[in-house]
Amino acid sequence: MDFKFDDEQQLLQQVTNKYALTRLAPEADRWKDEPFAPEIVKELGDLGILGMRVPAEYGGSEASFVAMGIAAEELARGDFNVSYFLQLSAIAAKLLDGADEEIKRQWLPAIASGDSIVAFALTEPGVGSDAANLTCSARRDGDDWIVNGEKSSITFAGSADGCVVFCRTGGPGARGISMIFVPLDLPGVSRTKYASAGGHLSERGSLFFDDVRVPANHQIGVEGTGFIGAMEAFDFNRAIIALAAIGTASQSLDETIEYTKTRETFGQPLAKREGVAFQIAEHLALLHATRLLSYEVLALADAGLPHTSEAAMCKWLGPKQSVEAIHACLLLHGWTGYGTDLPFVQRLNDVMGLEVGDGTPEIMKAIIAREAFGREFSSYK
Ligand SMILES: Cc1cc2nc3c(=O)[nH]c(=O)nc-3n(C[C@H](O)[C@H](O)[C@H](O)COP(=O)(O)OP(=O)(O)OC[C@H]3O[C@@H](n4cnc5c(N)ncnc54)[C@H](O)[C@@H]3O)c2cc1C
Repeated sequence: MDFKFDDEQQLLQQVTNKYALTRLAPEADRWKDEPFAPEIVKELGDLGILGMRVPAEYGGSEASFVAMGIAAEELARGDFNVSYFLQLSAIAAKLLDGADEEIKRQWLPAIASGDSIVAFALTEPGVGSDAANLTCSARRDGDDWIVNGEKSSITFAGSADGCVVFCRTGGPGARGISMIFVPLDLPGVSRTKYASAGGHLSERGSLFFDDVRVPANHQIGVEGTGFIGAMEAFDFNRAIIALAAIGTASQSLDETIEYTKTRETFGQPLAKREGVAFQIAEHLALLHATRLLSYEVLALADAGLPHTSEAAMCKWLGPKQSVEAIHACLLLHGWTGYGTDLPFVQRLNDVMGLEVGDGTPEIMKAIIAREAFGREFSSYK
């Protein structure tokens, strides 16, 4: 076991940390009121962040999952939400791996450069946790697929150029689901954006498909394997989410450590009170343990080894520990922590979104239990 990043990984850590603190952090507050600037998405492309999981022949760098985790953790020190671009580009790269060559040639280089954003549309108004019961449909009409239905709570619904849509093409349950790639400028596609407590730059919303016609070669992979594709993408991304959450919490703790060294009450710096310092020590320890678990998941993914249970563990723990740590930082800053001049309220709202997104705590525990007890004891399959 080697717990040290190699030279290349340390360089990536330094570069992304500097970019996060000098470029992203000062602007993070802006995206509450305005859409995220496309030039920053392009910058992420130029930095190589968006092409990390894109194959080299399509303009990416084929970086390891561990490297992606390092980038997510450091970028989230500047702005948690920027990790959505990293997450969705890697998910799209993973899913489009099974796409027709024409789709790959057109979309993968654009994802890597930041010219195109591709969304992942599984959730519907009627199904979230039990996504295998989705109803959005695709039916064959000659050489085309006709897609109908609504997808809800989709990250980048407001800004994506294309979308992997999980559609029912066969019978009930997971085996009747296929992936269809839908360019979002086609006739019959419409969108709405939601108002949310955080994560504004991800422009989450609904996508509506009304008799949207796409050529048959827009089906990704084999018909009926869509649900497996979704679950495989979830597994590595759960560790990425955890590390982004940990990055934001670690930044908050660093700032709070500095603040409590200078803020005095009753004639002493807050840092000298064990009631204060022990709180921070607990959060440091819990975040550190979750961080190691997250990198273990990514190392397992890089080695091609199973990691479903561990991924669910860190997806449960990462956002939870992060929210609790940021909340403590907010309180330790007193009334200023509750104000919007400091970043804690916004960070809390941002990270909380991914306690739900990509699977809730209950669903993570159901996965851990299913893997421990066996599928025959699972309350869901
Ligand atoms: C910030 C954010 C980003 C998102 N991005 C995307 C995206 O890009 N693409 C996409 O497809 N979806 C996305 N989602 C949707 C997300 O995946 C769903 O919200 C999530 O899977 C939960 O589904 P639901 O909201 O319908 O809740 P429900 O499934 O209705 O669950 C409601 C509550 O009941 C609990 N619950 C459900 N079933 C059980 C059970 N069997 N036992 C115990 N408790 C249970 C849940 O844990 C939850 O607390 C996003 C959501 C958020 C908040």
